[in-house]
Order: sequence, then C-alpha cells, then structure tokens
Amino acid sequence: MADPPLIALEGITRVYGAGAIAVRALDHVDLTVQDGEFVAIMGPSGSGKSTAMNVIGCLDVPTSGQYRFHGVEVGHLTRDQRALLRRHYLGFVFQGYNLLPRMSALQNVELPLIYQGVGRAERERAALAALDRVGLATRARHDPSQLSGGQQQRVAIARALVGDPDVVLADEPTGNLDSHLSFEIMETLADLNRSRGLTIVMVTHEADMARYAHRVIWMVDGRIDRVQSNDEPA
Ligand code: ADP
Repeated sequence: MADPPLIALEGITRVYGAGAIAVRALDHVDLTVQDGEFVAIMGPSGSGKSTAMNVIGCLDVPTSGQYRFHGVEVGHLTRDQRALLRRHYLGFVFQGYNLLPRMSALQNVELPLIYQGVGRAERERAALAALDRVGLATRARHDPSQLSGGQQQRVAIARALVGDPDVVLADEPTGNLDSHLSFEIMETLADLNRSRGLTIVMVTHEADMARYAHRVIWMVDGRIDRVQSNDEPA
C-alpha cells in the first residue's frame, strides 16, 4: 500500500466563538501535502491562513474534521502527544525571527535540541551543520544584533531544521525583509526543498514568493478558493 500523505486535512472546520458572533475561520478545508512538496498558502487578510497553519502545526485543534499526519489522526492525540509531535516532526519559521537576543546564533539554533534532551556535543554538532546548510557557519558565534535581518531569518530557518523535521511551516517568512533579502530567503528555502527534499508549507501574501512553491493554495473566507500548480517553480 502507498504511504499515507504527510499532511491530510479532511473537512477541517474551525469556529471561533459561538452563536451570533461565531466566526468560521476554516470551513470544510480539504488539503493534502505530500512528502517533498513546497506549498504556498495565499489569500486576503482574515481568509484563514494563520488558522490553517495553526491547525497543521498542532497549535490549534479544529472544531470538526480530520487531520492526519503521516496517517496518524492528530485529533486522537493528547495535548502532550501533540507537543511531542511538534517538537520532533515540525519546524517553525515566523515573520519576526523570534531569536533570543543575548544568545549566539549557535545557541539559538541549539534550543530545540535542549527541549529534545540532546547532549551538548551532539547539539553543537547538529546546530553547526544546520547553520552551514543556510550558509551561516562562519557567523555561529555572533549575536542576533550583529546579523542582518536576512541573516537572522536564516538563523531561524537553521533552528527550524536542526531537529530534522518532516516539514517546515513558515508563516510570512519574508514579511519583515526588503525584496532583495526576501529572494535570498526564498532561494534558501527552495534549495533545501530541492536538495534535501524538505517539505515546506508557507503562508505569504507576495506572489513573487509563492512562485517558488510547487502549488499555491488560495483561501477566501475560510475555504480553499482555488489551487494553482507551478510546473516550473522559481
Ligand atoms: P489570515 O491569517 O488569513 O489573516 P486568520 O486565520 O487569522 O486569517 O483569521 C480567520 C478568521 O478568524 C478572521 O475572521 C479572524 O478574525 C478570525 N479569528 C482568528 N483568530 C481568532 C480568535 N482567536 N478569536 C476569534 N476570531 C479569530
């Protein structure tokens, strides 16, 4: 039998509030993401992109519908099991980098491994390898304040990669960067996808950034409005 898809959302609905003020942030969303895919999610503000990412990232629980990760029904997991799933299988990249200011790039990248209980020597080796993958091995001892915005975001990408996740979830990863640095970040992500088969799900409001994805999912009012395939991603 074929392997189940990495991510499979089926009829996912997320309602905030109740009664007259209820908001249907997601309304019967069906979406599968295969291992090795690069998927972009676009859509106007309020269309449900962040809610979809929160559900996929196991940070939020849908009101109804099924979410299977590697065939495992996430709705059947306890809160602790979901936290373990996040820690071991998912990497997160945010718009604002979220690096700790008084720690070096290396220490920032090591952090997820501390939570995984990895020993110091192995942590350092893995963090240096992750920094190397984003072209920042020589900046390992720098503090975030000594790095450009683009470099800080690459440190954040290294931090997302260090635990060897099955998928990286990137929420507006270029939102804080000028266009030159944005393309640099997208080249880094696209290269990780091409050369290492890293699966990426990215929210962006910039069509130029979505061009790097294999598929672009357009959301409107909590629903998938259309899906656009990119035969030749940037
Ligand atoms: P996007 O990321 O596309 O801007 P969101 O997923 O943030 O959209 O929001 C989708 C809808 O859900 C919006 O109408 C938003 O106001 C609503 N929403 C999001 N989070 C909450 C929340 N915590 N409580 C109530 N409503 C929310």
